[in-house]
Amino acid sequence: MHTAKKIIIGGGIGGAATAVALHRAGLDFRVYERSLQLREVGAGIALWANATHILKNLGLLDDAIQVGCLTTNYQFNSQRGKELVNIAVNSFELPVIGIHRAELHQLLWRNVPREKFILGETFERFERIGNQVCAYFKSGLSVTGDGLIGADGLRSRVRALLLGDQPPTYRNFKTWRGLTDYIPSRYRPGYVQEFLGRGQGFGFMMLGKEKMYWYAAACAPEAQPDAAIGRKKELEMMYQDWLPSIPELIAATEEANILTADLYDRAPIQLWSQQNITLLGDAAHPMLPTIGQGACTALEDAYVIAKCLQASDPITAFQHYESLRFGRTKAIVLQSLRSSKMGELTHPLAVGLRNTFMKVMSSPISNSFRSLHAYRA
Ligand SMILES: Cc1cc2nc3c(=O)[nH]c(=O)nc-3n(C[C@H](O)[C@H](O)[C@H](O)COP(=O)(O)OP(=O)(O)OC[C@H]3O[C@@H](n4cnc5c(N)ncnc54)[C@H](O)[C@@H]3O)c2cc1C
Repeated sequence: MHTAKKIIIGGGIGGAATAVALHRAGLDFRVYERSLQLREVGAGIALWANATHILKNLGLLDDAIQVGCLTTNYQFNSQRGKELVNIAVNSFELPVIGIHRAELHQLLWRNVPREKFILGETFERFERIGNQVCAYFKSGLSVTGDGLIGADGLRSRVRALLLGDQPPTYRNFKTWRGLTDYIPSRYRPGYVQEFLGRGQGFGFMMLGKEKMYWYAAACAPEAQPDAAIGRKKELEMMYQDWLPSIPELIAATEEANILTADLYDRAPIQLWSQQNITLLGDAAHPMLPTIGQGACTALEDAYVIAKCLQASDPITAFQHYESLRFGRTKAIVLQSLRSSKMGELTHPLAVGLRNTFMKVMSSPISNSFRSLHAYRA
């Protein structure tokens, strides 16, 4: 076993999961995170079976079930609530869990010794010295290890230095996310429900502790500022004639609990490992959240990279890791992008055709999701 230190840049879900996986594998590492506190945004995610498989192997599944909510169905509807596709996601040997991001993040961190993560350190650059890699930080700190993993997210500094490629691509969607205690009277327990309109979408699901998490997306120019009337009022107007549960959820959410983000990805054409430096999660393969796999694939990456590092030196391990992960993540990045195209349609005729298409193709659509979730890293 190679016990020399691995340097992980970034302590988000990908970096934290890598820390747990390396710790379980008995490898030495440190995580360097620029924030002074380990925290996640107030939003939820669905951990599909491909991700709960990783939690199970890391010994965290029971704890995740405790703080999450079991999910049974993934349902797509028209904006007024006519069912188009209903996928039973509970037919695997593993559960699907709706979970608050902060709960998942804390669960990962709780299982790593405190001294393994160094907060308030912003990575600036690396240098290879023989078989070692040295990371330099804004504070003046420098650390040496035998491998470096960039888990520093969508705008990864490690990626920029390693690959020198273009910034991520804006995909014409702005999103809003909210959390509330309000449960709509027509909510179907265990369901992730999505609603597709004209250039707009909405979805909601239950997390642990009876919290409802909702998300909205609409076509918009990049970096569009909030409307003068505020986020909540803008959303209330945008969704006023949708299924009543939707405006009810918005009305029940505090303005301060509504987050916005623009959506980006990268065309999956670039390999991401070079010698003893590699990338993971959004740094490696950022994707649109349309099929909810960004954090799930970061968990898969973490588990695979630890297995590879357990078996060989970082240079061999990172090549192997990349060869195991590139095809899988490329397919998901592309599928996420295709899904966003369906949501971009605005002409009533095109929207009607899309809805009919989804209803007719319900079975192949369900099978495609099932095969995505059936993957076991
Ligand atoms: C609107 C929206 C909804 C989403 N919904 C889902 C969903 O339902 N399901 C799902 O699976 N995924 C979802 N995702 C995707 C998911 O959030 C990401 O794929 C996931 O968070 C990626 O984790 P990461 O650790 O790779 O990156 P991040 O979470 O971005 O973490 C990167 C970390 O690196 C740190 N960092 C950055 N630069 C430096 C530096 N120079 N030095 C030190 N530290 C640094 C950051 O502070 C951060 O902590 C969604 C994304 C969005 C935008």
